[in-house]
Amino acid sequence: MGTVGENGGVPDTTTSPDPAPTGATTRSSTASAEWFERAHRVTPGGVNSPVRAFNAVGGTPRFMVSGRGAWLTDVDGHDYVDLICSWGPMLLGHAHPEVQAAVQDAVTRGTSYGTPSRSEVELAEEIVARTPVDQVRLVSSGTEATMSAIRLARGFTGRDVVVKFAGCYHGHVDSLLAEAGSGLATHAVAGTPGVPAASVEATLVLPYNDRAAVERVFAERGSEIACLVTEASPGNMGVVPPEPGFNQFLAETCARHGALFVSDEVMTGFRVSRQGQWGLDGAHEGWRPDLMTFGKVMGGGFPAAAFGGRADVMGMLSPQGPVYQAGTLSGNPIATTAGLTTLRLATDEVYAHVDAAATTLSTAVGEALDRAGVPHLVQHDGSMFSVFFAPRVDRVVDFAGASSQDTSVFRAFFHAMLDRGVYLPPSAFESWFLSAAHDDHALQHVIDALPAAAEAAAQACEGARP
Ligand SMILES: *Cc1c(COP(=O)(O)O)cnc(C)c1O
Repeated sequence: MGTVGENGGVPDTTTSPDPAPTGATTRSSTASAEWFERAHRVTPGGVNSPVRAFNAVGGTPRFMVSGRGAWLTDVDGHDYVDLICSWGPMLLGHAHPEVQAAVQDAVTRGTSYGTPSRSEVELAEEIVARTPVDQVRLVSSGTEATMSAIRLARGFTGRDVVVKFAGCYHGHVDSLLAEAGSGLATHAVAGTPGVPAASVEATLVLPYNDRAAVERVFAERGSEIACLVTEASPGNMGVVPPEPGFNQFLAETCARHGALFVSDEVMTGFRVSRQGQWGLDGAHEGWRPDLMTFGKVMGGGFPAAAFGGRADVMGMLSPQGPVYQAGTLSGNPIATTAGLTTLRLATDEVYAHVDAAATTLSTAVGEALDRAGVPHLVQHDGSMFSVFFAPRVDRVVDFAGASSQDTSVFRAFFHAMLDRGVYLPPSAFESWFLSAAHDDHALQHVIDALPAAAEAAAQACEGARP
């Protein structure tokens, strides 16, 4: 098992930073390197969330000093087109003037009251209006949202067992930091030291998109299963969409066995459509999850997240019901103002723009790699897409497929893009993210960088050949 990224329970095999491949165009990163050195002295690995550290690609992460629209600027003064978007949240781009103004206005009235306030109600109303949940509880991170949803599912059903899929990441919750061992419905093995065996004892891990495995585990253990939790469309092992009808099948299977279906939309929620992934499947197919989790976009770049669902299930939550859950900064007025303003600005036009930008860019990436003769797959879920340098499969449907890729090819591609001012997620197991601010100029900048990066990838492929 490798490290668990901030955005993926996926192993990246490199465990220590080593030098980036050198190239004639390498921009200086002296100031970033100095800050990284300072950071290392006071913070493990120099970062506050692992995948930022470049362990999977080598080299020095860039320390950013500002973001505007589609662009980031680092401490050495270089500009980058940002294809991370803070790992999803920045749907409108950086420093959106209306979000900034709303936040600045909110700050003048104080930053936290520890009492109810209006913006948290308005944000909850916006979430309830867009999604199939009856009620939500606001929290501060996606991890907190999934942790609380699991507790609520266990409290509601009076059962302990949780079913999850290999390659799906739900934050760093003990019971969900589990990878599958070999075989199908295996007992989970903790994905990291520090998680007691007891915490994952009640977690069962299945291969994604595998209906037979789901049927088997429910046939054997159905009456013990509190919930099945899944990413609504996995983006944390690269983008691996559900097969058509798979989420509906999961919802129906759970219902048949009295288990709750927990759909984790922390990444996809309010990003792949107004209504998230549910807007692309459940809304048309006529089913809804029992519980859902949200984060990222709904915080507008601040720490805000939520879980919600059926009124009878949510009614079990304290202070209305017996299942305890709380948070000093939950529903924080600044975070909820940023989230609310972001969602109000996330119109159909925004989603249409982000979808079109994703199509333009993913097509260009595919063409550049084809031209350079680099075996690859581009997979989509709405505007989220990722590139698998996986020559041995023609479609990635699960974690085993995602893991078959050649990460050294990604690494060469990544650094060639970085040298040309494009900041990709520094791991081959992540979605690329776009925003409404990715205009023609920003997209063209990325497209212009592609031929050289594809060439670098081609050379890495050759290097990998015996
Ligand atoms: C990012 C993410 C989380 C965790 O959210 P944090 O705010 O990082 O704790 C949970 N689930 C999914 C699907 C995510 O992408």
